[in-house]
Amino acid sequence: MLKLKNISKSYKGFALADISLEINKGDYFVLLGNSGSGKSLLLELIAGLINANSGEIHLNNKNITNSKIQKRNIGLVFQDYALFPHLTVRNNLLFPIRKNKNKAEKAIKIAELLNITNLLERFPEKLSGGEAQRVALGRTLITNPEILLLDEPLSSLDVQLRGGLRHLLKKINRQGQTIVHVTHDYDEAIALASRVAVIDNGKIIQVGDTESVFKNPSSEFIANFIGLKNFFKSVLHTNNGKSFVLINNSTKICLLSDKKDGEGFVMIRSEDIFVYDKYTESSALNNFEGIIRDAVPSRLGIEISVETPLIFWVLITKESFERMNLGEGKKVWISFKASAVKFLKT
Ligand code: ADP
Ligand code: MG
Repeated sequence: MLKLKNISKSYKGFALADISLEINKGDYFVLLGNSGSGKSLLLELIAGLINANSGEIHLNNKNITNSKIQKRNIGLVFQDYALFPHLTVRNNLLFPIRKNKNKAEKAIKIAELLNITNLLERFPEKLSGGEAQRVALGRTLITNPEILLLDEPLSSLDVQLRGGLRHLLKKINRQGQTIVHVTHDYDEAIALASRVAVIDNGKIIQVGDTESVFKNPSSEFIANFIGLKNFFKSVLHTNNGKSFVLINNSTKICLLSDKKDGEGFVMIRSEDIFVYDKYTESSALNNFEGIIRDAVPSRLGIEISVETPLIFWVLITKESFERMNLGEGKKVWISFKASAVKFLKT
């Protein structure tokens, strides 16, 4: 198990602040954050390329805070591959274990795992981006790292190659390799992670299993980050044990809440809102009449915006969209349950 305890590191103008994380053996741990949030710095700290100002790093109950890079048994694959241009793929793979016995066999085994056996005699300049990335991965895996750190390993590949490499990374993880993968791409996190931490401006703002992080974003930052569009500043009120929020002092939305009255944000996931082409009785407490203002195809279906006057985004399937003959300017009714409304106090 890898444990970061209250790690801090400051630069002029940027600081990683009081970072504590636990990464279990076998985890596929994704660290998600925007560009400049401190992801690469954190990996470099774990790998031992830089030292923290304070805090400790423990690996399998051993304090490695001051251990040299070579003694940590942690492998880092850089974002830009950094292969040795003057060495063939085979010699790039062999480089970290050049003093070991059985090194030739090891290189062959790794090449098979990564499907690069046919590239062994090539030089890096003759490799595609996806091939170079697999060689870089192989050069680190060959050292049998306890933890494999990946810095945005898919970001410079095109979409098709990404799929293949994701698959490969999952396979390596299933074979028992603990992986810490940093990315700014939440799709990637959803696709790969068993656990996710979100980093914003040098601070970890949420950690958990993938589903709980994405289903229950704990801050406006994460909600925005994952494209949640029904996100409104509001005031919570409770009356006779029933909770509701007021948005813009006019729209009332019922919810289940045990929080104290006050200001905050409400969020409703676009897939939790139902749309009808005529008025429909439902048990849902929240019902609005509105006009479709926009319809945008998305990865999962069609996102429509409904002006009620408050604008709600609703995700529906292409089939429903066509069956109800929806389109811009059409009058619709939307409904969602009180339990679909999340309130975050500010
Ligand atoms: P990310 O990988 O999330 O995009 P980085 O970890 O590379 O972000 O950088 C986080 C911040 O730290 C950036 O604002 C960057 O300018 C700053 N930074 C990184 N390295 C140094 C350094 N050696 N000296 C000063 N600032 C640095
Ligand atoms: Mg980076």
